Amino acid sequence: MTAQPEHISAHWTLEALQQLHDQPLMELLFRAASVHRQHHDPNEVQVSSLLSIKTGGCPEDCGYCPQAARYHTDIEENALMTVEQVRTAAERAKGLGSSRLCMGAAWRNVRDDDEFDQVLDLVRTVNGLDMEVCATLGMLTPNQAERLAAAGLYAYNHNLDSSEEYYREVISTRGYEDRLETIGNARKAGLTVCSGGIIGMGETVDDRLKMLLTLASLDPVPESIPINALVAVEGTPLEDQQPVDIFEMVRMIAVTRIVIPTTTVRLSAGRKDMSPEGQALCFFAGAGSIFAGDKLLTTPNPEAFADMELFGALGLKPTRAYAKGERPEPGVDPGRPGDKQRIKWSRPGHRIERNEAKRK
Ligand code: SF4
Repeated sequence: MTAQPEHISAHWTLEALQQLHDQPLMELLFRAASVHRQHHDPNEVQVSSLLSIKTGGCPEDCGYCPQAARYHTDIEENALMTVEQVRTAAERAKGLGSSRLCMGAAWRNVRDDDEFDQVLDLVRTVNGLDMEVCATLGMLTPNQAERLAAAGLYAYNHNLDSSEEYYREVISTRGYEDRLETIGNARKAGLTVCSGGIIGMGETVDDRLKMLLTLASLDPVPESIPINALVAVEGTPLEDQQPVDIFEMVRMIAVTRIVIPTTTVRLSAGRKDMSPEGQALCFFAGAGSIFAGDKLLTTPNPEAFADMELFGALGLKPTRAYAKGERPEPGVDPGRPGDKQRIKWSRPGHRIERNEAKRK
């Protein structure tokens, strides 16, 4: 493995990324595949599972998300899962080849309460199964990040979704700077960072590339970058968006691969609508991970046997757990903070008309 360049963002400008993105596809693919094999085994793909440990009822207004309480979608809400429920789900995922479990809770931010203590138990449980444990729980204070790290969390997911400008078009209940702050808090606590975005929300290619520039400017860069294709869910403000063209997805993966060579690019939501050939192109362009399981939080995903058939046809092997980092040993919980450590997250206000209309 080659060491990561010190300041990746110094190599890239928006113009350079535009040129990269817009070149003939075969040139882009060749370059991306060459970079990929310098830093990763091109025949290995990590299989991860995404488990919604608390579904629905979220106070946020992310325009793509069926879990926002204000939209009228028919997802099944559930309270925070118990240790036994999560252990069963994790063992099942591991049995189907997953080496990483990402637990998602539909919260705006983590609260210092009994539910968070329960999440820490969930993290300890999955860590004990020798799986990489990732969580996506919303905004996080430094103390909460430290507690998660002490429980044995390996990675924290907090997506930037899009460029800072387009983020405001899709979400109005929190700011981009809140996202970056949480990512910084996770990083300071020693967690690895998983942060990426969604394409197909109506953004421009420049918005996608600007998001990549922001990710590349983080020092260190995220170890993991999920690239999602929007799954337009009825009842959300983005329900009428057209499906993402496979070649747009391939280009986005390839550019991500070239700009941030060391990261694991995750082929995430939207895979159910991709053909096996389309997915193979994504792997060739540098995708090094998929999410397995018939659901991605609340949206449909290919079934495990279809994935294993595809792996067999392409000669791919699932990556073992902790292939790119040490398994964190659970340590001493620093405990809940005192009152004076409470953080106030921004509330930019509801400025998106379509969200307001949906709410009414
Ligand atoms: S994406 Fe997360 S924060 Fe946004 S509405 Fe959905 S659950 Fe809430």
